[in-house]
This record gives sequence, structure tokens and C-alpha cells, in this order.
Amino acid sequence: MVVWYQVIILAMICNIPVGYFAYKKRSLTQPYGLITAGFVGAITFLAHPLYWIMLLAFFGSSTILTRYKNTNKLKENALKLAEKGGQRDSKQVLANGGIALIISSYSIIKWGFWYDNLNTSIAFMITISFAVTNSDTWATEIGVLSKRKPIWILNPLKTVPNGTSGGISVLGIGASISGAAFIGLIYSISLTLTTSLHVLFIITIAGLTGSLIDSLLGATIQCMYHCTVCDKITEKNYHKDCSSECTYKKGVKFINNDLVNILSVIFTLIIFNNFILYLFI
Ligand SMILES: [Zn+2]
Repeated sequence: MVVWYQVIILAMICNIPVGYFAYKKRSLTQPYGLITAGFVGAITFLAHPLYWIMLLAFFGSSTILTRYKNTNKLKENALKLAEKGGQRDSKQVLANGGIALIISSYSIIKWGFWYDNLNTSIAFMITISFAVTNSDTWATEIGVLSKRKPIWILNPLKTVPNGTSGGISVLGIGASISGAAFIGLIYSISLTLTTSLHVLFIITIAGLTGSLIDSLLGATIQCMYHCTVCDKITEKNYHKDCSSECTYKKGVKFINNDLVNILSVIFTLIIFNNFILYLFI
């Protein structure tokens, strides 16, 4: 029987090397990105190590993919458009892990630390939240390398520059499916030590759905700006390239990319709620 302080010690033993790796690799902003990620890591671990393993799978794979072909011109330009650097700040950490953090906190308050039990519906919700986040991250990091220009999600006849929120490409969709399946695979292997095909299928579909919802929200309600100096559309009201203020172009003013990420997880959880899941699993 495991007791509470052993769980806390184990959480520290597992999280400290990851924190050190993130610090060394500069994959998170310091100190706030690192502190926030450490907090998410600790809470998910205390709720259940399975949730933490999925967080680690997301964090590890996205760190690798952020660096993958990062000198490629297509990727460089696309990242400039999204105004994203390689380092994730605290807001991005919460945009990616915030829902898992809330559900894990709820799980701890309600059922205590992980040694008590694993609640299947909670585990599914957290898995789906990571499947969406991972799917979307892989789609972004790999999809921007697409040689064929992405099509606009609201009008398939129109192409948009790589990295545009709401742009979808065959490569991006493939990456999205792989990213979701990766989480599904980790979930089913960690839980049952086998690959359960129908679990894998549901999680992959959920992740892909979330990623497409993300694109749809990115194309419709996400706030976009226009840099009058460079005549470019940006996601932030300040254009780093030319150090000038941008003017409002479209979307809902307070909805940025981070909020779109959170909303896409929430909508996916509503669609793939327990009712639907229990029909299949
Ligand atoms: Zn500019």
C-alpha cells in the first residue's frame, strides 16, 4: 500500500529530471513557463501517473517537433506569421495542459491520490484533452512544412500561406491523425499493456476532431491583426519583425490562439462525452 508522502516523493523524483531537461533545452520560458509546467506536471502525477505519462508524451514529442527542421524556410515563415517562438510561455502551457490540470485537480479533490483508483471517465477526458492538444501541435509543427499550400477550411478553393490559422493541408491532417494516435497508443498500452484498437480509434478520431475544431475557430472567431508596414496578417497586435503596432482585422478581440486551443479541447470533450464513449467502449 502506497501512502501519500511516498506519492509526493515519487512525483518529485519523476518531475525534477523533466524540469531540468526543459531548463537545459530551453523549451519553456524561464521562470514562468517552467514553473507553470512543473505545477501541471505535479498535479497530473498526483492524480494518476498515467495522466503524467501522457503529459510527458505530449511535452517530449512537441519539444522534438518544434526543433525538427526549424531552419526550413517554410517553417520559419509560418512561425513568424503565428508569432511563436520555440519556447512555450506560461499561457501556452495552460492552453495546452490547463484542461488536464483542472480535471486532475477535480480528481484529487474527489478521489484523492492515484493509489486509490483510476476513474475511467476522468481518464478518458484527460486522454482526449491531450489527444487534441498533441494532434494540434503535431499538425502545426509538421503541417507548416507542406510544399503544397494549405486550403482555407471555410473555402476549399482558396489557398492560404503556410501557418495560417484555419489553413489545412494533407500533411497537416496526416500529422494530426498521428499525433492523436500517439496519445491513444500510450493510453491503451499504459492502461492495459495491450493495444486496444477501438480505444485507439476513438481517441484518434477525437484528437483529429479537436484539431479541426481548432482550425475552424482559428478561421472564424480568433482575433487577427494587420501590419500596415509589411502588409501582413498577424496573430498578435504587435509585429516583432518591424516593431510596429498592428491594426485589428477580424475575429473576436479577446480570443487569441491560446483561448482557441482551450475552446477546441472543451468542445471536443462535449462532443465525445461519456455518453458517446460508453456506446463504443
Ligand atoms: Zn510588420
